[in-house]
Amino acid sequence: MRTLGHWIDGALVDARAQRTSPLYNPATGEQTAEVALAEPDEVNRAVEVARRAFLDWRDSSLTQRTRVLFAFRDLVARRLDEVALVITDEHGKVLSDARGEVQRGLEVVEYACGIPSLLKGEYSDQVSGGVDVFSYRQPLGVVVGITPFNFPAMVPMWMFPLAIATGNTFILKPSERDPGASLLMAEMWRDAGLPDGVFNVLQGDVPVVEALLDHPDVAAVSFVGSTPIARQIYARAQASGKRVQALGGAKNHSVVLPDADPDYVAEHLVAAAFGSAGERCMAISTSVLVGANADAVLERVVERTRAVRVGPGRDPDSEMGPVITSSARTRIEGLVTESVSAGANLVVDGRNFRVPGFEGGFFVGPTVVDRVRPEMEIYRQEIFGPVLANVRVDSVDEAIALVNANPYGNGTAIFTSSGAAARRFHREVTVGMIGVNVPIPVPMAYYSFGGWKDSLFGDHHVHGPEGVRFYTRAKAVTQRWPEHRDGTGASFSFPTGR
Ligand code: NAD
Repeated sequence: MRTLGHWIDGALVDARAQRTSPLYNPATGEQTAEVALAEPDEVNRAVEVARRAFLDWRDSSLTQRTRVLFAFRDLVARRLDEVALVITDEHGKVLSDARGEVQRGLEVVEYACGIPSLLKGEYSDQVSGGVDVFSYRQPLGVVVGITPFNFPAMVPMWMFPLAIATGNTFILKPSERDPGASLLMAEMWRDAGLPDGVFNVLQGDVPVVEALLDHPDVAAVSFVGSTPIARQIYARAQASGKRVQALGGAKNHSVVLPDADPDYVAEHLVAAAFGSAGERCMAISTSVLVGANADAVLERVVERTRAVRVGPGRDPDSEMGPVITSSARTRIEGLVTESVSAGANLVVDGRNFRVPGFEGGFFVGPTVVDRVRPEMEIYRQEIFGPVLANVRVDSVDEAIALVNANPYGNGTAIFTSSGAAARRFHREVTVGMIGVNVPIPVPMAYYSFGGWKDSLFGDHHVHGPEGVRFYTRAKAVTQRWPEHRDGTGASFSFPTGR
């Protein structure tokens, strides 16, 4: 059995792990490999390697960093299909979607290629007689990224391009369910000319994360995953004095107003709910159908849902693949069953779904549940599967109140032909990323990505300008070069700026 190991100091670490975790192909249900789970001494070694590498990398010139980033960008673009195949085999998402994820990550690398402009400081001439002030930003040190299974290439690429471009060294702890992409990215950094020890990968689970959170030489932690873990990570990393951003789960609502075009809405709702089998933090899991249009929209949603082509991710005809594990399938199907007992109306039933030739795969069919109410578990929990729950309300006010009462605040969207309604919606919702007739409003790399409320713990969103700020801290320098023409200028009272 192949064992995936760690990447420390520019090389693959021969994995003779005491503990391992199995890797499955979700389309077949078969185990394909195993991943090593790092031991405490490997964590200490990786941090020490990154700490030493930082001493040189923080002083590397912007020209050198930019050259490495451009080379890395070219390698990822060239090997995009290879990375996508690994993602499809380990995660299950369809190949076109896996390619899209790498492409979105690549856009953050491209943004980071502009680091010389992004790190320009500020300068104020003559703030007082003969005195100037300038500010600039410096890297933090060893920073850690802990990432979820659902975007094994894109989410790490939200973090490390800017962390490295700003002069930090990085340790990635990918999800133990699909670690393959992390090692390909490590190889590409090496081939791009990144000095050894600047980018490292530690495979593992809870003990590795805890050791990194508590390590005194780790300066900052970026986490993306589920809300309960994000909350824990935030508290623990902060308690040990680290800078931390912890992005959590989501429950994204799409509000459909009566003036929206039902065909347009149905196509977009179905793609946003069932793309990647609903395993996206920006997936639409709840549609809020306002007023009289509800039946017309639902009818088309059902029609399109029944036509979704479900199959293995490598099949170019598949629109939707399996979910990540058999236990995820059991959990998702259980929530659907519970919603029926609680009085919801199951309109398209994706339970017990079988794909011919792939009977062992972890497939759940696309599922639509209507007349869901907020107290039902299917509404309260982040389903993270191919289930669209419809809630019916009578007015925009009710729809906004529903979105705002939800503890999550990652993404939301409104479908309408009214500019005034859309404007009111995006100004009033307590959510970080909002789409207007765009169901999955993921900001481009040059904006920052992040939710509100229980979808993000910390002060900074990821990538874009907030990413640059997260991975650096500011210095302000006040300087005078005295010429002793007018005395020393020293004073016992606070300077007043003349
Ligand atoms: P998860 O929280 O189970 O795991 C995320 C990471 O934390 C993994 O690397 C895992 O090994 C580690 N981990 C798990 N349990 C831990 C524990 N008790 N202590 C320390 N570390 C632990 O999440 P997942 O199932 O891999 O990913 C799906 C979740 O991620 C969903 O909730 C989804 O919404 C969320 N997500 C959020 C965003 C966002 O931008 N807000 C993006 C992608 C995914």
